[in-house]
Amino acid sequence: MEPFPGDRIQLPRNMIENSMFEEEPDVVDLAKEPCLHPLEPDEVEYEPRSSRLLVRGLGQREMDDDEEDYESSAKLLGMSFMNRSSGLQNNMSVYRRNPNGSCSMPSTRTMVVCTVVLVIAVSLIMVIYLLPKCTFTKEGCHKRNHTMEVIYPLATNGKLFPWAKVRLPHDALPVHYELVLQPNLTTLKFAGSVKIVVNIVRVTRKIILHSSGLNVTKATLTSAGGHQGKPVEFLEYPLHDQIAIIAPEALLVGQNYTISIEYSSNLSDTYYGFYKISYKDENSKQRWFAATQFEPLAARSAFPCFDEPAFKATFLIKIIRDEKLSILSNMPKKATTAVTNGIVQDEFFVSLKMSTYLVAFVVADLKNISRETNGSLVSVYATAQHLNQVGYALNTAVKLLEFYQNYFLIKYPLGKLDLIAIPDFQSGAMENWGLITFRETALLFDNNTSSTRDKKLITAVIAHELAHQWFGNLVTMEWWNDLWLNEGFATLMEYLAMEAIFPELHSDEDFVNFIFKAMMKDSLNSSHPVSSAVQSSEQIEEMFDALSYIKGASLLLMLRHYLTKDVFQAGIVVYLHNHNYGSAQSDDLWDSMNEITNGTLDVKKLMKTWILQKGFPLVTVVRKGKIISVQQEKFLYHVETENWTSDASYLWHIPLTYITSSCSFNRCSNAYLLDQKSAVIELPEEVEWIKFNVDMNGYYIVHYAEDWKTLIYLLKKNHTMLSPKDRANLINNIFSLAGLGKESLEKAFELINYLNKESSTAPLTQALYQLSLIYNLLEKKSEQQLAARVMHRIEQLLGDKIDQQRWTDDGSLSERELRSTLLAFACTHDIRNCRTTATEMFENWMKSNGTMSLPSDVMKAVFTAGAKSSDGWEFLLMMYTSSFAEAEKSKMIEALASTEDVRKLTWLMHNSLAGEVIRTQELSHIIATVSQSLPGYLLAWDFVKENWEKLTRKFHLGSYTIQNIVSWSTSQFSTKSHLLEVKSFFESKSEESSQLRCVKEAIDTIQLNIQWMERNFVKLQELL
Ligand SMILES: [Zn+2]
Repeated sequence: MEPFPGDRIQLPRNMIENSMFEEEPDVVDLAKEPCLHPLEPDEVEYEPRSSRLLVRGLGQREMDDDEEDYESSAKLLGMSFMNRSSGLQNNMSVYRRNPNGSCSMPSTRTMVVCTVVLVIAVSLIMVIYLLPKCTFTKEGCHKRNHTMEVIYPLATNGKLFPWAKVRLPHDALPVHYELVLQPNLTTLKFAGSVKIVVNIVRVTRKIILHSSGLNVTKATLTSAGGHQGKPVEFLEYPLHDQIAIIAPEALLVGQNYTISIEYSSNLSDTYYGFYKISYKDENSKQRWFAATQFEPLAARSAFPCFDEPAFKATFLIKIIRDEKLSILSNMPKKATTAVTNGIVQDEFFVSLKMSTYLVAFVVADLKNISRETNGSLVSVYATAQHLNQVGYALNTAVKLLEFYQNYFLIKYPLGKLDLIAIPDFQSGAMENWGLITFRETALLFDNNTSSTRDKKLITAVIAHELAHQWFGNLVTMEWWNDLWLNEGFATLMEYLAMEAIFPELHSDEDFVNFIFKAMMKDSLNSSHPVSSAVQSSEQIEEMFDALSYIKGASLLLMLRHYLTKDVFQAGIVVYLHNHNYGSAQSDDLWDSMNEITNGTLDVKKLMKTWILQKGFPLVTVVRKGKIISVQQEKFLYHVETENWTSDASYLWHIPLTYITSSCSFNRCSNAYLLDQKSAVIELPEEVEWIKFNVDMNGYYIVHYAEDWKTLIYLLKKNHTMLSPKDRANLINNIFSLAGLGKESLEKAFELINYLNKESSTAPLTQALYQLSLIYNLLEKKSEQQLAARVMHRIEQLLGDKIDQQRWTDDGSLSERELRSTLLAFACTHDIRNCRTTATEMFENWMKSNGTMSLPSDVMKAVFTAGAKSSDGWEFLLMMYTSSFAEAEKSKMIEALASTEDVRKLTWLMHNSLAGEVIRTQELSHIIATVSQSLPGYLLAWDFVKENWEKLTRKFHLGSYTIQNIVSWSTSQFSTKSHLLEVKSFFESKSEESSQLRCVKEAIDTIQLNIQWMERNFVKLQELL
């Protein structure tokens, strides 16, 4: 099923509002007043009050699909019909104004056409009228005498803009771009010119493309075979980031034309487009750096282009620069030529066919190291002071590139691959083809200060971005609704590659914990299907969330497990070969998989139940002797009754897996496809216990109705009968069920009683996570005594383990990571004398003026303890501003944000927003840390409220950073008054803000917290 309406009925939001709520006349009925307006496109203008809606004359040409969409949309909104304004149709307008201003009579032919159109219009009106949800009773919906009218927006110059949709028309397709840019790192502006060769696939006089914030000074059009470009009229409609090139005559199908546009702009001060970054070099001198970040919608702010992923073309890029700076772009450099004194121009080789969001260039003073592998030169670039930290990334990238080439059976197609550390970068990294940009902490590994966890992060991010060179770059999702095809795959491949090449990092255990967090989000009513219709820029930005990445990856992992790894891999290879240099939708992937399964399994049918439905199933298992009854229903925290959607019709095709006491571990995992609401599985013999969802390879939660006791007993008796991932899975499932009210909290606590015997990271991390959630809520509700009792329980379970930790970097990577987690927790909550040891180490470090080396895995715990004193905090800040080790700096910033001094917390947040002492890229991290603590959580929320406009300007509405900021700053609330406050704050903001999914999710989460407390508070008091 498709719970969201298709994107056929979507008009720009401003149009919907205006048309529904403005009083008449919003539109003018040309049938009544045929002579009211002249009908030539450049002359017809009628602007309603504060509305951009406009009216055009009646046309004769048959409607194409786009027009039909648009027209039925308009009808639904109570508008009158319209036609559109290509030059061709205007020549045949029914009500043509004579040169003398009088009305001519329509011809017989036009009368016939008019009648046909009228009949269609009336039929549509009837259909719409009969729709159960048609409540648009304003004039227009039920009127019988409708004629065709055109509704177009106004361009900036007051003329009609000939396109009203957010998506571009498909009349002209880009084939090749030639882009020349001249950035100036002194004036912080850039000038550009772009030549775009377009191929005409439908007769038109207009070419619509994207442009945002660019000062376009000239546009010319060169016709097929012509040499000299002729100046043409261009119109701008900033609301949709669009410009229109108006050709003097109809453009012919099959012909190529070249659009040339000259423009200029400022380097952006956000993280999007072609943006500037100020940084200090090794001599503490301020320098400028310019880089690009185009995904999803910002290529248009660096050059006019067809900025949708399916419009693939080749790119020739030339950049003019100061001879002292370096320039990198997607392709290798072809030539450098002198322009004037000290100024040169770099020209890069023509790219492969690619999407605009993958174009990239960087202008800066850079250093690098390189190595060749399999015909491609891999290089890692950074500013000079970081050159000693790029070695690990180079080794890792080379290994991963080789792995992927073997896995996908497709060679990396570019001659070079650059990985570059950017001093200020919003996300972790961006997979631009051939030029991957990274946040410094996601690429630079410092032998002295990078911890095991830092190594894991760097490896994972490189693995993710390299996988994108195939998934995303070679084969691209057709539209942003299928973003998961890019991100889910890259996330899955990241884990598969790490498992294969770096097994010592145990990344699969992290993945399990990520899936739990994605499921938490997916269990709220505010969730969405992995593949969801999107249109507006906020909706597109919002697709970059845990569901596209983690749920997407988890569903693929489930499929891989079910199909077997070889069949899955073969399916991927077919998919990549079938669609290389093109675009794909979810169905294309399933079709490729079906080519391999060859009728034995319909992958499409199975996977559609997961991709198109939000949420996930709860499987209830009842065991009676050899008979196992299984039943599925939707797992949903029913928090908001007003918006609650019925879940009875949800049905998934679940590849259930299970192990039993007579057949455990990978020796014999069993599978059963549950494609009904319920079923019965008969085992060959009676068993002592059964555990479903083996190794958490499936995306569902299991409730062992009467069997939790058996599993609790098993863990207590011999927990190693189950794998660490299975143990983490049981902990997560029972706490989730307690939140839902399906199982008692008492049993959940009983299940984790075995923990003092536990030594694996995944179950320990999951238990700590669940208990911390409870502790944090109690603490913020001022239930300090009860919170202390939760902490006491944590100590009972994990105290010995914490005491056993040594303050060194010894041991396996897994042991070292666990040490980091446990000691950072203990020092944050001041338990097990953690702070005494840590403070001592901090003081020695301070005495040595920061020259003493600290073990990297415990560094964060040491800094956190040190930051508790005012002197320690000031010293840490001073060291932060002078350190070049990004890994060290990120631990310092977390420690600084963990102080209890509210003035310091406020100072930190404000300074991070200002971006001078502390980079703005750290802000969401700082807010996350501040909002977890008792002294900070209200402060963080106040900060978000006060600075909402600045935050959304810098990070863009709907972006992953904004999602995080909203989520963290409200996650600790569990009272009705806070619920009300959060609701009314966002309601007081723009509609775009209040409609954000992360806002709805925040509201759901607060309600869930309230509900959790109501359900479990008394029980907690009895239990602890
Ligand atoms: Zn990605």
